[in-house]
Amino acid sequence: MNIHEYQAKQLFKEYGVPVQDGVAVKSEAEFDSAIAAIKGDHVVVKSQIHAGGRGKGEFVDGFKGGVKFVKREEAAATAKRMLGNTIVTKQTGAAGRVVGTVFFAEAMNIKKEFYLSILMDRASSKVAVVASVAGGMDIEKVAEETPDQIMKMIIDPDIGLQAFQIRKLAFFFGFGDKEMMKQFKAIFSGLYKLFIQKDCSMVEINPLILTDEGNIVALDAKVSFDDNALFRHPELEALRDPHEEDPKEIEAGKYGLNYIALDGNIACMVNGAGLAMSTMDIIKHFGGNPANFLDVGGGANEEAITQAFNILLKDKNVKGILVNIFGGIMRCDVIAAGVIAAVKNVGLTLPLVVRLEGTNVDKGRQMLAESGIKLTTADSLADAAEKIVKIVAAENK
Ligand code: GDP
Ligand code: MG
Repeated sequence: MNIHEYQAKQLFKEYGVPVQDGVAVKSEAEFDSAIAAIKGDHVVVKSQIHAGGRGKGEFVDGFKGGVKFVKREEAAATAKRMLGNTIVTKQTGAAGRVVGTVFFAEAMNIKKEFYLSILMDRASSKVAVVASVAGGMDIEKVAEETPDQIMKMIIDPDIGLQAFQIRKLAFFFGFGDKEMMKQFKAIFSGLYKLFIQKDCSMVEINPLILTDEGNIVALDAKVSFDDNALFRHPELEALRDPHEEDPKEIEAGKYGLNYIALDGNIACMVNGAGLAMSTMDIIKHFGGNPANFLDVGGGANEEAITQAFNILLKDKNVKGILVNIFGGIMRCDVIAAGVIAAVKNVGLTLPLVVRLEGTNVDKGRQMLAESGIKLTTADSLADAAEKIVKIVAAENK
C-alpha cells in the first residue's frame, strides 16, 4: 500500500524526522486558508499522486510541473491548474494520474540535495539503506552512471541500526561536525524506527536537503507498506486513498479475490496464482493478450465466481473470457454450478471458454453441457487458450 507525500511527512514528523510545514487540501475552497497558514514569501505547490517524478511531470493540458516553487500570491492560481488535472510523469505511465489533493508547503532554501532510502533487500534477507550524494535525481540513473556516488549499507534487523552505521553515513554525506551529526542521527534513527514499526517495504527521501541555515530536512517523502503486514496496523487504513487505486481491485479484495487489471482483451478467471500466471503466459503464446490476472482462490463459491464475472465485465476492453479452473480442494461440479449461476446472473453475452480439470470433472462438464449456456469447452490449458484467442480474434477483425 502506498500513501501520499503529505501523509508520509506526517509520519516522519511523528518519528522526529524534520519536514517543511504544509497543508494538504482536496478542494479549491480551502486554498486561501491553507496558503495563509504557510510562512514566507514563497510557497511550494505540490500535486499529490502515488507516483514520483512530479517536478518534471507535465499535465495533459500542457501545464508543466507537478511541483512548483512560486510567490505566495501565485500559489492559489498554480494549485488551481493542478487540482482535478491529469499529470503524466516518468512513473505514472502514459495515462497519467488525476490530482485529487494539493499540498502547500513552506519553501526551503536548498544548499545541497541528497538521497536516502531504506528498503527490504532480498539478496541479503536484511534491511538495506541506499544513500547518495546526488539527491533530487533519478536514483536508478545515478546507480548506472556514477555508482561511486551511492553507498549501500545492510542493517541486520535482529541487531538494529548501529551507532557506527549512523556515523559512517553521516561522514559520507559530509555531516561530520557535531551539530550536523546530531541532526542526522535523529533523522536516520527515526526513519529506521518508522520502517520497522510500521512494516514498511520502503521509505524514501529524495531529496533530503541541507538548507542555507544548516538544517537537514526531508523535502520529499515516499512510504510504502507491506500489504501482508497491514492487518497489524489498523491505524494505516485511514491513510488509504481509494482515488489512487483501481476500483475493480478494491471490489475484488472485498470478496477475497486477487485481481490485477492489465491492458489486454481476454479476461481470465483462474484458481491459484501459479495457474493464473501460466494461463496468462499461454494466452500470450497463442497471440492473445490477457486483460487481467484473477485468482479466485481455493474456496471460490458461487457468489465469489459471480462477483468475479461482475468485476471482469467492468473492464470495457474485455472481448472474451477464459475460465480455467483446477478442481482440487474445490470440486468441478461445484465450480460448474457457480459458473452457470454466475453467467445467468450477469447475463453474459461475451464469448466464454471453460476448461475444467480435476475432481468430479465429468459431472462438471456434463452440467455445463446441459445448462443451455452458450460456451465453448476445452480439455487442456493449451486447447482453452488457443480457442479463446481464435474466437476473440475472429469476432474483432
Ligand atoms: P518529485 O519530482 O515527485 O520527486 O517531487 P519533489 O518533492 O522531490 O520535488 C521536486 C523538486 O522540486 C525537488 O527535487 C526540488 O529540487 C524542488 N523543490 C521542492 N520543494 C522545494 C523547496 O522548498 N525549495 C526549493 N528551492 N526547491 C524545492
Ligand atoms: Mg522527489
